[in-house]
Amino acid sequence: MNVLVINCGSSSLKFQLIDTETEQVSAKGLCERIGIDGQLIYQKNSNEKEVIAQEMPTHAEAIQVVINILTDKDLGVISSLDEIDAIGHRVAHGGEKFSKPAFITEEVFNELGACNELAPLHNPVNLIGIKACDEFIPNTPMVAVFDTAFHQSMPERAYLYGLPSRYYDQYKIRRYGFHGTSHKFVSDRASELLSVHNPKIIVCHLGNGSSICAVNNGKSVDTSMGFTPLEGLVMGTRSGDVDPAILSYIAEKENMSISEIMEVLNKKSGVAGISDVSSDFRDLEEAANLGNRKAKIALDIFSYRVAKYIGGYAAAMNGVDSIVFTAGIGENAITIRKEICSYLTYLGVVFDQEANNTRGSEREISKKGSKVKVFVIPTNEELAIANETAAVIQL
Ligand code: AMP
Repeated sequence: MNVLVINCGSSSLKFQLIDTETEQVSAKGLCERIGIDGQLIYQKNSNEKEVIAQEMPTHAEAIQVVINILTDKDLGVISSLDEIDAIGHRVAHGGEKFSKPAFITEEVFNELGACNELAPLHNPVNLIGIKACDEFIPNTPMVAVFDTAFHQSMPERAYLYGLPSRYYDQYKIRRYGFHGTSHKFVSDRASELLSVHNPKIIVCHLGNGSSICAVNNGKSVDTSMGFTPLEGLVMGTRSGDVDPAILSYIAEKENMSISEIMEVLNKKSGVAGISDVSSDFRDLEEAANLGNRKAKIALDIFSYRVAKYIGGYAAAMNGVDSIVFTAGIGENAITIRKEICSYLTYLGVVFDQEANNTRGSEREISKKGSKVKVFVIPTNEELAIANETAAVIQL
């Protein structure tokens, strides 16, 4: 099945056209600077990337740009829109309503609107993308695949905060978790690699945004992001867990508003804020190797927080069969994986330094006989969305 995957961000739109039978990507691209000046970065098969200036005042024009390029006589890969069998939309927040991907009907579209409040930067643009596809590619089935859905299996003890219960009753303030498509994709693959009945897996999705998920027998039972993607690990520019009393203390000291403090917690904190160097782990490793103390501390704090969460989730599941690293840092940062695993010998992890040092794709980085198997498994959110879309359509 030929699935067009659409991922609308706040000022960008990523797309891929994927054949789910062969898992081949025939074209992919990124519309960026939407609402500013507009630019399309486009790649057909594995040809060179093309950068094309295109005006895109909103995400609706960006969808038109995607359609034009896919059907272009020279650069395109399809001769008619009929060759698109289905469209899979990544949707940031499905609230409590959506615990799995949903076939988009008018009713579902209206229900998605109700989740806008929970993700004001992302959900409204996801809906614009859906509406534009409905208009420009009519009669093509569409599926919404949610970042939050996989975590809807979390029990109350994991998703409720220690706050007055009326906040949950009135405003649905609870932990939702994110990166669900990636956690599911990677944990499903780890289950295939393990020959264990009811496997207990901890997935470490470590990228610019990072989260950890405890997956017990295919179900998310806890995850580190919460009501928003700010909670949990120390990230590129996000603080992760902090004592909330710090907010009022800083507000008073620096005469700042709540929204200014939120900006600091989201955009100026994390390893970038700690180090004053960069949010990029390659820059941090380089600086640390050159003796930059703050860069070294930032990396130490990052690994330590990951290790603490792993310990917490091993306790939550009363054991762990496998720990998996994925995303930009998880797949590539050799020293970070080594540092994290150095905290885990008590769990029975026997780390394989040599396997960890080799670059490559999917592999085991624990030694034969390690009680807990440690894997690197590349995530592929677009393929996961395409597969989930195909599965809903074929039901
Ligand atoms: P993502 O958000 O999944 O694209 O991951 C982005 C993060 O991965 C950035 O912090 C990058 O520095 C990091 N990253 C990518 N490649 C490497 C590498 N070879 N070594 C260390 N970090 C890397």
